[in-house]
Amino acid sequence: MMARGMTRDRICVIPGEDAAAEAVLNVLDVMKALDTGLDWHVCENTSAIGEGGRPQLAAEAKEAIDSSRATLFGATGGPNAAALFYLRWGKQTFANVRPTRWSAGMPSPLARPEGIDLAIVRENLEDAYVLIEGDLAQLAPLKLRSRTAGIGPEAMGEGAFSVKAITREGSLRVARFAFELALQRKAAGGAGRVTASAKYNMQPRTDGLFIECAREVASDFPDIDFDVLIVDDCAHRIVRDPQRFDVLLLPNLYGDILSDAAAGLTGGLGLAASGCYGADYAYFESAHGTAPDIAGKGIVNPVATLLSAAMLLDYCDRAPIASALRDAIDRLHEDGRVLTPDVGGTASTAQVCEAVLGHMQA
Ligand code: ATP
Repeated sequence: MMARGMTRDRICVIPGEDAAAEAVLNVLDVMKALDTGLDWHVCENTSAIGEGGRPQLAAEAKEAIDSSRATLFGATGGPNAAALFYLRWGKQTFANVRPTRWSAGMPSPLARPEGIDLAIVRENLEDAYVLIEGDLAQLAPLKLRSRTAGIGPEAMGEGAFSVKAITREGSLRVARFAFELALQRKAAGGAGRVTASAKYNMQPRTDGLFIECAREVASDFPDIDFDVLIVDDCAHRIVRDPQRFDVLLLPNLYGDILSDAAAGLTGGLGLAASGCYGADYAYFESAHGTAPDIAGKGIVNPVATLLSAAMLLDYCDRAPIASALRDAIDRLHEDGRVLTPDVGGTASTAQVCEAVLGHMQA
């Protein structure tokens, strides 16, 4: 029976490749065994041949994404790249949330990981990810001058450049998202703090703009504490004092790197969830990649994908099921008997999923 007030929603599932796909398909079995009231629609082939033989998003994959409320995505090393690009830039999913929470039994390199509970909010569309690169010589007509070396990039010799683009609108909207998340977390007992970080001392135009926008938004949220760190100092503090962080707001590239570092404090990539949110769409995927080195062995840790599915359930107004799933995952680690090899166990992906279901039904 569905809880009152729930509507049936369609969810698109794109398993992706290699071990990531194995995790998604096992997690899908867990989702189907739960009374979510969601229709799960698996879309295996997302790529078609477009003009000039270039791969493009298959029409049925676009339709599957567009007709769903959200997507559960595996990971891709290329074959599903068009689908990922559509989910991200096509659907304008501008805020990537990557939570890191320690619970008893999770391995950690820290002596005292108790109380780590932070969420990185990473801007998801801009920065170095606009993917505009070229030869330094192409910049000659712009007559640019380096503020440190005093010469133009074309005079530096043979080399390449990459565009790092940060916009005011993009920074304001992701900052607003971070503060709203901090408010929600505060209502659930969180610290009520946003820390914004970037290399604004060396990149005053781009990173400076990002921090300026965060400051501007902070003034609209008087109930949330706000502080700013230079990103290298931030990296140091994530390792030395991760408990000081609640919501950590970062531009795209720093967010990508520091969220993997944060994941390393609480069990590693096999446990790291991720959700990408836009104004009217969201997709959810583990923070890890396709893990080709363990493909076909049946040992990929499904917890990262299970926790991403829990974020999807929250997004689709199924908070009680999401919270029961997170509790079951906590019990899995506390119990410690059914774990995959990456976190010190000998169990298979399927056995972990079965154990999580068992904890939910206990
Ligand atoms: P890609 O090119 O798709 O990013 P990758 O192997 O370079 O793949 P990841 O997939 O993130 O990057 O994997 C990095 C390492 O972490 C690999 O050794 C992989 O096996 C391991 N790993 C990642 N995710 C998991 C998981 N869920 N369970 C177990 N090991 C994992």
